[in-house]
Amino acid sequence: MARERPELRVGPAEGKGQGVFAAERIEPGQLVWDYQGEEKWIKDIPEELWQYSFQVDYDRYVVPEKGSPGWYMNHSCEPNCLVMGRTRIVAARRIEPGEEVTFDYSTNVGWEGFAMECKCGRATCRKVVRSYEHLPGGLKGHYGACVSSFLLRPKAGN
Ligand SMILES: [Zn+2]
Repeated sequence: MARERPELRVGPAEGKGQGVFAAERIEPGQLVWDYQGEEKWIKDIPEELWQYSFQVDYDRYVVPEKGSPGWYMNHSCEPNCLVMGRTRIVAARRIEPGEEVTFDYSTNVGWEGFAMECKCGRATCRKVVRSYEHLPGGLKGHYGACVSSFLLRPKAGN
């Protein structure tokens, strides 16, 4: 039986501003969040919203509802969620109540110029998070098809 989307809570995440936390246990494979919304051309999105936007194609983005979990979901270099298809965030393992839910931004970003300092604090932290094509080969293999679907097809025009 399909489960409802789990209850999530927005709150302070150490060193990272706000983050999104599980308010109940989440099982592996469960849908955690879906970045459904109006898709816009990147040139039509104000620059101050870029950091909150979720990339769905090389030049198309969804701006999540302000204040929603999608707005605040943080990156981790050792995430507990994966990106599936175009917009879905799915639990990669069991997530206990109170744990922050995260995904790897490099599995969502195809913009060449992207560079974000990472403070996830994990042993494998890459320190600077860049676009998918900069992911080390081993990590690409690890994520496999669990990345934004547009990243798995060749970029047009190049
Ligand atoms: Zn990191």
